[in-house]
Amino acid sequence: MNRPHTQTEPPAQAPTQEHSPREYYERLAAEADAHMDRLEAKEPLKELTLGTLLKRRGVTRREFLKMVAVTTAALSLPSIFDLRVARAAELATRLPVIWQELQSCTGNSIALLRNANPGVDALLLDLISLEYSEVLMAPSGQAAEDVLEAAIERYDGQYIAVFEGSVPVADGGNYLTIGPAGHTGIEIVEHISRHAAAIVAAGTCAAYGGIPAARPNPTAALGIADFLNTRRINTPVVNLPACPVSSTNIVGTILEYAMFGRLPQLDAFGRPLWAYRDRIHDKCERRSHFDAGQFVEGWNDQEGLKRGLCLFKVGCKGPMAYNNCGVVRYNEGTSWPIMAGHGCIGCSEPGFWDTMTPFEEPLPGRVYPLPFGLDADADTIGAVALGAAAVGIAAHAGATVVKSALEQRQAKQEPPKKEQ
Ligand code: SF4
Ligand code: SF4
Repeated sequence: MNRPHTQTEPPAQAPTQEHSPREYYERLAAEADAHMDRLEAKEPLKELTLGTLLKRRGVTRREFLKMVAVTTAALSLPSIFDLRVARAAELATRLPVIWQELQSCTGNSIALLRNANPGVDALLLDLISLEYSEVLMAPSGQAAEDVLEAAIERYDGQYIAVFEGSVPVADGGNYLTIGPAGHTGIEIVEHISRHAAAIVAAGTCAAYGGIPAARPNPTAALGIADFLNTRRINTPVVNLPACPVSSTNIVGTILEYAMFGRLPQLDAFGRPLWAYRDRIHDKCERRSHFDAGQFVEGWNDQEGLKRGLCLFKVGCKGPMAYNNCGVVRYNEGTSWPIMAGHGCIGCSEPGFWDTMTPFEEPLPGRVYPLPFGLDADADTIGAVALGAAAVGIAAHAGATVVKSALEQRQAKQEPPKKEQ
């Protein structure tokens, strides 16, 4: 996978060694204030205000600020940002967004729409100026294409493009044609991307090709960043992989853009660090069972399943997958796969369908580093409780070292400039 484009500004949410954390966050807050002052000077793109929306949804200002505090924490920002996140939500009416479906199942749109109750995620969906979305808009056919063209022209260089799904490039792109003129996905992504200020690749298919790109990848499906690299289009891209991506990660990314005018700091695979810094395994409620060597031994192990033991032996890929699912959860924070009783399938990792299968078994041949130069494969884990604990700690260290090495390598690369 090619490295995705990153923003050219200094990163958010990571105090540097040059400044104390306090100085760092004060500078970051000043940066946010300056950007939001500029954004506020622009005309809102819709009449709806946050105050009207809260009233309509029956949410008091105090309740709203409580919700905002949760979002601020999810963004890895300290509480001095609470009011700034609230202001960013208010200013989202000045943010044009174009949401384009590609080779996808629309699952990411559905996950976002699942937020029926008022939370910051649901409120922001009402506040942003969603100029085009085939899933949500009433017009279709030529009328829909006209809406898209008008939005691209009107907000040239200012809008956020959200792509959902991969781009099939085999056979001249004919595996995906959209609209009465039969434009290919290739043409559509090129056109929208060249005029966008920033791009969000929502879900694993848009980020890395996802299931359509699984071997033998008959349509030659690509993720957005890889596709744009082939066309030398340098619009910055943020990858939000998962199947589907959680609404918190989409909304947090858009809020952060409203607050700073740039994309967040990214990891080696183009994912925001605030959401994808930790492994699933590190924030898992079953982790104490892993460390104690207590596992569900198979899908007939009723007792182990009832006790909520670790799902590693029935294939959980949490030790290899980076995402915040266990913290933010799905469907308004109701649950997530491991809480529901199935292991993580590693869906937020590049090439997950080929590299993380079989889903119901530990990966054969995958070696976990143990301290003192020893190694253990999946069969060894859990054989001895103390051994398992050592594997857990060492695997964490090993995975983190690999990831941070990749990030350092990426940081050394000159970030590409956006095309004019
Ligand atoms: S292996 Fe899976 S279920 Fe077990 S602690 Fe790790 S993430 Fe949780
Ligand atoms: S728990 Fe794992 S498989 Fe499930 S959504 Fe999160 S990263 Fe994907």
